[in-house]
Amino acid sequence: MNTWRDKEEFKARVFEWAAKIDVHVRSLAVRPMRNKWASCSSGGNLNFNAELLLLSRDIGDYVIVHELLHFFVPNHGKLWKSLMRAHLEDYQQLEIKLKQSAYNKALRRTGDNASDNLFK
Ligand SMILES: [Zn+2]
Repeated sequence: MNTWRDKEEFKARVFEWAAKIDVHVRSLAVRPMRNKWASCSSGGNLNFNAELLLLSRDIGDYVIVHELLHFFVPNHGKLWKSLMRAHLEDYQQLEIKLKQSAYNKALRRTGDNASDNLFK
């Protein structure tokens, strides 16, 4: 599996995407999180779950773009989906891969809808 070399490489990737999407990141942390892959605040603070470093890079890309787009669109509606597709054409495939990883890692804690709770 093509995983990340280290935390720094992941962070560099976040800034790369942020520049591309035109998002201003004020603070960025990669740290253990209990039941989310990532979170963002309107002030530009981003947190990513350190477990992402154990997954393949394309899944990391998905989570990074997913989260950065929330700076513009707070939900997963039509606009968000079309922006996702514009940046990561096969994002739905990656979403499935991520959900499978969540199952494998037993991140799923609150039943079948848990995957919806992994972000926010
Ligand atoms: Zn989301």
